[in-house]
Amino acid sequence: MSVFHFELRSLPPEAEAFREEVRVFLKEALGDRAAVRRARSWGGFDPEFSRKLGARGWIGLTWPKRYGGQERSFLERYVLLEELLASGAPAGAHWVAERQSGPLLLRFGTEPQRERFLPAIVRGELSFAIGMSEPDSGSDLASIRTRAVRADGGYVVNGTKVWTSNAHRSQYAIALFRTAVVPDKKHEGLSQFLVDLKSPGITIRPIINLAGSHDFNEVIFQDAFVPEDMRVGEEGAGWKQVTTELAFERSGPERYLSSIQLLIETIREVGKEPGERAAVTIGRLVAHLATLRQMSLSVARMLQAGQNPNLEAAVVKDVGTSFEQEIPETIHALLGVEPRLSSGSPFERTLGFLMEHAPSFSLRGGTREVLRGIIARGLGLR
Ligand SMILES: Cc1cc2nc3c(=O)[nH]c(=O)nc-3n(C[C@H](O)[C@H](O)[C@H](O)COP(=O)(O)OP(=O)(O)OC[C@H]3O[C@@H](n4cnc5c(N)ncnc54)[C@H](O)[C@@H]3O)c2cc1C
Repeated sequence: MSVFHFELRSLPPEAEAFREEVRVFLKEALGDRAAVRRARSWGGFDPEFSRKLGARGWIGLTWPKRYGGQERSFLERYVLLEELLASGAPAGAHWVAERQSGPLLLRFGTEPQRERFLPAIVRGELSFAIGMSEPDSGSDLASIRTRAVRADGGYVVNGTKVWTSNAHRSQYAIALFRTAVVPDKKHEGLSQFLVDLKSPGITIRPIINLAGSHDFNEVIFQDAFVPEDMRVGEEGAGWKQVTTELAFERSGPERYLSSIQLLIETIREVGKEPGERAAVTIGRLVAHLATLRQMSLSVARMLQAGQNPNLEAAVVKDVGTSFEQEIPETIHALLGVEPRLSSGSPFERTLGFLMEHAPSFSLRGGTREVLRGIIARGLGLR
């Protein structure tokens, strides 16, 4: 049986020094923003904030300087993400582009694609959506049916994507389409494309989530044209690329910090001398948080070393999303405060917001059951 491996180490001094710089910037940029707004975390979409962060050089921190990056370490990037999440910064307008679209282009894109898109992402001017899921293909992503058929100078696309977060607010999506049907080999014949979401033949329809807000969409392609030079990587190599992309998507601190604002507010709420039950509950949550952080940091170190920690990233996401889902329930039980949505105290509304959104934490980016399947395969158990 294989094993997974997490290495515990502290952060290098330059990463901790960078943390102070980021804190000063965020304090100034966010001011005394209410806890319920901070609780939106990387779901908060604010292009102006992203442009400010870009102006500091803090988007694409690890990317090559020739594309506008800073060539800094993955550990410094980790510190930046931690601080953005802990402060509840509205980082959603650049989050996907920085986390996965840019790294995908760095790995598989053409030089003209990199030159065209990466500097604009770095400046915080471009938002990307992820066009993977379809009405009949979520966990079983290889079963997608949206077709891209070769035409003069490119491809004509027909089909539907679903749950496409921020498609209505983004300029581009990186989408997975079927370019060939290979009988009995559904992982073959898939290709990735950079899609201009304003192109003719693309309709974006809102899907209202269970919290009543419009974050994701249905994206319908009806004879939409995608030029040849917008294909990412080789035709038919989409499956290998998309699984690499999912590894970027699953390994970060956003997979255990989604409820952090509620934990911070609870610590404020119980004060400096909490009762025994509050102290034990908060102590347990903080101990879990510290352990998860070490595991997640270990994944960042493996990425820095050029390794491919898919198994470890799946473990962090599975345990991390269970943790961030547990926080609202545990705090509700501890304090007996009612979760509220529109009226009520800031604390009640922060609790209400997270209660409503927590179910999605273990769905987005791959469900718990699917991750456990990946972990079992990585350990040689299936
Ligand atoms: C907030 C949010 C944002 C999202 N944003 C995007 C986005 O931007 N772009 C995008 O492409 N998608 C996005 N998604 C979609 C997400 O990736 C899918 O919901 C997810 O992959 C599950 O697919 P599904 O909804 O079709 O469920 P299904 O695959 O139908 O799964 C239903 C249930 O069956 C279980 N199941 C399925 N297969 C197995 C198996 N082999 N073994 C055991 N159990 C299994 C699942 O765990 C789940 O509990 C988003 C989802 C959410 C909740």
